Amino acid sequence: MSSETGTGALTETPAATAVFTAVLTEGPLSRVSLARRLGLSSAAVTKAARPLIEMGYLRELAATERTGPGAGRPASPLAVQADREFFVGVKITADELIGVVCDLCTEVRASAHRPLSDPSPGAVLAEVALLVEELLGGPGGFRERTRRLGIAVSGDVDRDGGLVRYSPFLRWRNVPLRERAAEATGLAVTVENDVKALTTAEHWFGEGVGAESFALVTVGTGIGCGLVVNGRLVSGSHGVAGEIGHIGVDANGPDCHCGGRGCVEAIAGTHALVRRSRECTGRAGLTLDEAVALARGGDEDVRAVFARGGTAIGMGIAAVANLVGPARIVVSGEGLAAYDLLGEHIRAGFERQAFGAAVECPLSIRPLPFEQWARGAAAVSIQSLVAL
Ligand SMILES: [Zn+2]
Repeated sequence: MSSETGTGALTETPAATAVFTAVLTEGPLSRVSLARRLGLSSAAVTKAARPLIEMGYLRELAATERTGPGAGRPASPLAVQADREFFVGVKITADELIGVVCDLCTEVRASAHRPLSDPSPGAVLAEVALLVEELLGGPGGFRERTRRLGIAVSGDVDRDGGLVRYSPFLRWRNVPLRERAAEATGLAVTVENDVKALTTAEHWFGEGVGAESFALVTVGTGIGCGLVVNGRLVSGSHGVAGEIGHIGVDANGPDCHCGGRGCVEAIAGTHALVRRSRECTGRAGLTLDEAVALARGGDEDVRAVFARGGTAIGMGIAAVANLVGPARIVVSGEGLAAYDLLGEHIRAGFERQAFGAAVECPLSIRPLPFEQWARGAAAVSIQSLVAL
């Protein structure tokens, strides 16, 4: 086992990892049901759990179930000790940092925001350090039991290397974020693509627990997609996977910032919706809120901009369903504020393009506050406790 002050993985054997992960995501569980579910002997479960109990990460609840008819000793379920360790999660957007402190069960214990006026890496890292200080220095006494920080950033992120290869909205290229954030905060840092972080939170602590496959699609400035297949987050052998925003859906469509053409994001991302609405109204300073108001007021040209955007998103989602066949797809993100304008076109685009039975894949639409992204970053940090 790692020392308590170290920041390596907490679990060193596959059995310990399996036991801790199962209790973390699906507990409380008795040793007997853990053994059954993991295909381990009761002795192996007991051996794997013992150091985790000794270190205070797991605890035994009062006995509630008997192990069998006539069995003398009732089973005591194992549960996570939620406040054994705290985790900071930070989501970086182009103009704001959102930070949370989560406990081991990803309950948000504290949150804070800081505006960003300068998106350069140095300026952002200085603000990250101030945000972490604000979160850990405040009431709650989190500092003593906080060693880890998860950071979520949009774009192409190499989690293993701790590197942001390319983040279009921040205009970052090859920023060694893990190392620089560790220097700035003194914490052990995990960096992850923001959509993958959110998907991890859903997979380990949300509606995706136990699901063999699901997809999370986010709609907003970027159009993103996290994929879980065979119970694992798909990270892609080059660190890129699920980039639904850059699926080409119109060969004659607008150029995309990625260098491609007719991408979903170039048609349906927030910037694209605003640009097209400005073009068709002739109002150069039109904002997204104003475009939404015009469309809701019945402006047919602006309504058509949102309709085209919704159709593009639906076609992108259909591509995911056709390729992967997830059990269900959750659609979320800040762009859903305009769901009344996008929704029917998302569904229509999806149904038109989904092949055969893939069309039966349920689409659930869920709003998502920005703090959930920061919680996702904390979930990735919690995941670094176990050797995957
Ligand atoms: Zn693109």
